[in-house]
Amino acid sequence: MRKHIVAGNWKMNKTLEASKALTQDLLDKVPTDTETHVMVAPTFPNLYPTQELIKDSNIHLAAQNAHFEESGAFTGEVSVEMLESVGVTTVIIGHSERRSIFGETHELLAKKSSKVVQADLQLMFCFGEVLEERKSGNHFDVVKQQLEESVFQLSAEEFKQVVLAYEPVWAIGTGETASPEQAQEMHAFIRSLLKEKYGEETAENTSILYGGSVKPKNAKEIFSQPDVDGGLIGGAALKADDFVSIVTAF
Ligand code: PEP
Repeated sequence: MRKHIVAGNWKMNKTLEASKALTQDLLDKVPTDTETHVMVAPTFPNLYPTQELIKDSNIHLAAQNAHFEESGAFTGEVSVEMLESVGVTTVIIGHSERRSIFGETHELLAKKSSKVVQADLQLMFCFGEVLEERKSGNHFDVVKQQLEESVFQLSAEEFKQVVLAYEPVWAIGTGETASPEQAQEMHAFIRSLLKEKYGEETAENTSILYGGSVKPKNAKEIFSQPDVDGGLIGGAALKADDFVSIVTAF
């Protein structure tokens, strides 16, 4: 049975104090008996302080990015080993902001993905089409290519550590959400690609999250779709009450 997951991507938000305050608020409000796997992804400097607060809780630590080398002359970068050493259990790779603002290519994302799974961490791999690609009806082809040229380079064994996050770029931070039907249609397509590539068992066991303006008011409907196994949450993850409403939407 695949896991239900709700992950908060805090992006480049929150100072140390604000980050700790949000974490404490989540500790007070996330139900201890939830069956949903809850994760938060603070900025690099706030990873360890967050981990210190959540270590005995049911909230897990994710990082927003990583480099594919272990150490060396890569000014400004952080390795998977460093992330692991501060308690990170999941690394987000391929977020649309990394692709569009920082120019991350399929080839680079393939290397990063491989590094994360080889370090035995969970990989949360993000992908999704931009508005023009959806409007022109190319969204299925685009998504297929994004997967094939990066995360589908992993072996079937390595793929057991992967969670996918479909995030249509036109819905990220825009307030515009894919309809539950659009999300389901794409998630079912992604699962069919998984089946073709890795077989039925992997297809059935891989959690596929939806991301793109998920809010307390639309989470229930989106999460009720059979192939939507949770969400990657940006804006609404910055307020504990909103995030907890989404966590409890299943
Ligand atoms: C995201 O950045 O992954 C995201 C889904 O953001 P938002 O929820 O703000 O659209």
